[in-house]
Amino acid sequence: MTNEKVKLIKNNQSIAMLAPTFVLDFKYPNIIGMLRHLGFDKVTELTYGARMVNWAYVDYVKKHPEQKLFISSPCPTVVSFIDTEYPEFRKFLMPIVSPMVAMAMIYKKHHAEYKVVFISPCFAKEKIEAPKFPKFIDAVITLQELKQIFDAENIKEDDFKKDYYFDSFVREYTKIYPISGGLASTSHLSKLFGEGEILVTDGVANIKKAFDDIKAGQSKFRFLDLLNCDGGCIGGPAVNNKALSVEEKKKIILEYTTRSSEHTMGKHEGKVDYAKDIDFGIDTEII
Ligand code: SF4
Repeated sequence: MTNEKVKLIKNNQSIAMLAPTFVLDFKYPNIIGMLRHLGFDKVTELTYGARMVNWAYVDYVKKHPEQKLFISSPCPTVVSFIDTEYPEFRKFLMPIVSPMVAMAMIYKKHHAEYKVVFISPCFAKEKIEAPKFPKFIDAVITLQELKQIFDAENIKEDDFKKDYYFDSFVREYTKIYPISGGLASTSHLSKLFGEGEILVTDGVANIKKAFDDIKAGQSKFRFLDLLNCDGGCIGGPAVNNKALSVEEKKKIILEYTTRSSEHTMGKHEGKVDYAKDIDFGIDTEII
């Protein structure tokens, strides 16, 4: 399967969409050069898609003031958990695509001929979510697979020390999305809810407790920002670097966010209208 993915990249015009968690495993900006050497024509982050998702969340909440509960939906494992354990909460899932799908939609609109490949810290993105969006996502490569591919292709990060730049549209602050609470904080959702109405949590036990408290009428939360893995996607099972603590991973993401934001994005900066007229809404039955 991995070989098939490498062929897809090499034999087509292709775009790599990196989840910001890549920085837990690979050096920045070396990774951009390494991916281009592998065969990708464009290398970008998900962050622009995340910003569009944020705007869609804010818009949806504003348009549904009567709704008593909203649940974030970018984590396919949380969605599956709701389906199996708490199906009565499905109707509260936000009917909006994830940053992965949003970014793929944007690219397919402008570069329909390109194959879109998501580089993921997560197996669930490949196994559960991507198959629901075959029009937009052509393949998912986990960070573990990517390491194997670089090893097999003899692509070494120390050979890529130049000043590489993402093929991005805007300078982004949503690089903190993989840290638990990244969605709620970068969306500024606190402006739309009262004090203590937003719950940010991660890990199955905490999520279960949140649902049980709501069912028991012992909760005043109205927006749940939920991620399955400990600390958020930084705890994703396909991250290679397992030795780091959650706090160490957060520090790496935050340092990267600051460093890469200062790393100018040149001529691509500011093209926010690239996402104009794309509908990021989705039927909750499909999520
Ligand atoms: S929290 Fe874990 S399971 Fe959910 S999307 Fe992130 S890495 Fe995947």
